[in-house]
Amino acid sequence: MIIATDLDGTFLAGDPEARQRLYQRIASDPSITLVFVTGRGLEAVLPVLSDPTIPVPHYIISDVGATVVEGHSRQAVQPLQSEIDALWPGERVVIEAMSVFERLQRQEVPQQRRCSYFCEGDAVTEDIHAVAAQLGCDVLYSADRYLDILPPGVNKGSTLRRLVEHLDADPQKVLVAGDTLNDLSMYEQGFKGVCVGESEPALLAATSDRTRILHSHRVGCGGILEALSFFRFLNDAEDMTSSKGMERTGESGLVIVYHRLPYEEYLEDGLVKRRRPTSPNGIIPTLLSFFGEGQKGSWVAWSSANAGSRDFEVHTTVDTEQYPGLTCARVALSKEEVNIFYKRFSKEAFWPTLHTFWERAQFREDHWQVFLKVNRLFAERTAAEAAPGATVWLHDYNLWMVPAYLRELRPDLKIAFFHHTYFPSADVFNVMPWRRDIIGSLLQCDYIGFHIPRQAENFVDVARGVAPLKVLETRNCAPRFLTYGCAVGLDEMTTAIEVHGRRIGIGAHPVGLDVQRVQRILANPQTAKRMAGLRQELAGRRAILSVERLDYTKGTLEKLMAFEKMLEQYPEIRQKVTLITVCVPAASEMTIYRELQTQIEQAVGRINGRFSCVGWTPVQFFFRAIPFDELIAYYAVADVMWITPLRDGLNLVSKEYVATQGLIQGSGVLVLSEFAGAAAELHGAILTNPHDINDLREKCYFAINIHRAEAESRLRELFDIVQHNDIRRWGEEFLASVNEVARIEAPADAPERDVETA
Ligand code: UDP
Repeated sequence: MIIATDLDGTFLAGDPEARQRLYQRIASDPSITLVFVTGRGLEAVLPVLSDPTIPVPHYIISDVGATVVEGHSRQAVQPLQSEIDALWPGERVVIEAMSVFERLQRQEVPQQRRCSYFCEGDAVTEDIHAVAAQLGCDVLYSADRYLDILPPGVNKGSTLRRLVEHLDADPQKVLVAGDTLNDLSMYEQGFKGVCVGESEPALLAATSDRTRILHSHRVGCGGILEALSFFRFLNDAEDMTSSKGMERTGESGLVIVYHRLPYEEYLEDGLVKRRRPTSPNGIIPTLLSFFGEGQKGSWVAWSSANAGSRDFEVHTTVDTEQYPGLTCARVALSKEEVNIFYKRFSKEAFWPTLHTFWERAQFREDHWQVFLKVNRLFAERTAAEAAPGATVWLHDYNLWMVPAYLRELRPDLKIAFFHHTYFPSADVFNVMPWRRDIIGSLLQCDYIGFHIPRQAENFVDVARGVAPLKVLETRNCAPRFLTYGCAVGLDEMTTAIEVHGRRIGIGAHPVGLDVQRVQRILANPQTAKRMAGLRQELAGRRAILSVERLDYTKGTLEKLMAFEKMLEQYPEIRQKVTLITVCVPAASEMTIYRELQTQIEQAVGRINGRFSCVGWTPVQFFFRAIPFDELIAYYAVADVMWITPLRDGLNLVSKEYVATQGLIQGSGVLVLSEFAGAAAELHGAILTNPHDINDLREKCYFAINIHRAEAESRLRELFDIVQHNDIRRWGEEFLASVNEVARIEAPADAPERDVETA
């Protein structure tokens, strides 16, 4: 059968439950051909297509019948479109002719092959009809305000009829649905039809004597369901009008969906064993801490241990004493799936684009399909775990598409998302082939958190290009965040938006540290021993420290060049400073990093070749990961911490350095790239622009020579921030913001009607 439906007031209206039931039925039934027949221009239909809960139509008839395209490709259906084009005199001609009518006000919405105006009823004069007739055009007036000048004989009904003929479909198996007078032409083609509840009275009057037209009680999708049942279109349609209980719900009030389990799995003698995770940043313990006091919860993560085998256990426990209510719900992924979804695709396609290095990105459709599959598995697992109305907290871009699937499965859930990486502006993000899908998915969330206001605002910027968006709330960023003082500063940010009639909260929550953990490591006698050893190696020289993963985003090469320039320009510091560079290698399958590794090694070789002398090597290069406990000793002895990412979501290393120096009451100086997220938060750091080698050199030189009192005062300011905004506060503030949004009801009048043009 064909369901040909108007959008605003019809297919996009109705109570959420009826909408969901109709959408899911259409999406899952290949015997249904869905046709949108709308007064919107084609561009204004695109936001609907980016809403993952709404099925993608097979065909779209837009511009009140003047445009007809295939739903997936959005290419014209020929020869139908050419026939219409041939009838249209052209926009300029129509505007010119209509300009004599002062009470016509052109609608500022997308439109093609027709001209749309606002107009009061008494202004639709004979003269207008006469001028239109001279142009060879039709006039259509509806809803007491929309006036369209259309190609002759072209309307929703005529184009739908031509499409049905073109498809060679049985007209008896067509159901049309609408709610305003501009839908009337659809009912005049002899198809079965429904005028949904709250239809325009003039439409009801015009269709009242037609036996094949149902005037339904229920509005929007509810009315369409009523009609499917009334006309016995679908065998099970009766069931569809009655409400069914929620299927497949779990018992967890809080579900964390994270890329890692809260423990590490390893194989020993063929058996899967577990151990504590090595994560130094404290995120996992913090998230776990929300499951204390017996709260029923789940932690959804993938596992590829035993994934293919029958013994694969979906549910495991973490620590039954500390977290008695917590269950891990494991998503079984094959090694190959993990490799593509996590290691390759995320790093090759998303990572470069998110960090504004879009020229390096490689987009592969086959990898995207794996990504979708994995995200769907995560969503299905989550849906099965969550109790009615539960909060689901999703983490990071690996799980971008989970909200799309999850919202369909479980409209009742509070879906929150925290984005751990940088989020670029539309200029960069829109390079991504799947941008509409990704943003459409994220817009299913109730709350989305980023590290800093700039990233949140960039998200709003991107979302605005996908769907009509209303900013509901804004907030000043100061004093917590820098405003004009750094490259990623901002003075005001959006904190709530409305899209598709739903309210979405937006927040800035920079991840914090587990400061006590650093304190415990410092209290360990082993650390003091390590520090003494390092001091001895430095032999009284000042230490500049750099710690990062091997990644082009981190600016390691730029830093080395700036260091070389500094030694050139300021010969007096030679033999007095040593640059200790810790660079953590990437996994061997990440071939994209190989060239960078060679360049870095060459730069280190060159500098050491040029400046080394007996007893002094200017760059000490460690190409390996240093265990966190050891790293703290390095932080403690470093006089300057030089962190230079060209772009970075946050940068925890900078905070770890501040915490270490603060706890030992040192006077270390933090030189931080103004392109790191942390720069927006860390008042007191010396900010540097890593894209400018002179600035890199000068700021580092300044830090080496800084007055001790200034260094101490800067550190006090920094330590205060790091200590106060610790990881615990981060988690609590995030969850509190999610709960706050859930309390605020979305306004009753959805915005879609504003977009209706005819
Ligand atoms: N890290 C480590 N050993 C090293 C280098 C880094 O344990 O040799 C840790 C570091 O302490 C920090 C994390 O890795 O907690 C890096 O986090 P950051 O936010 O700075 O950068 P990302 O790697 O997330 O881009």
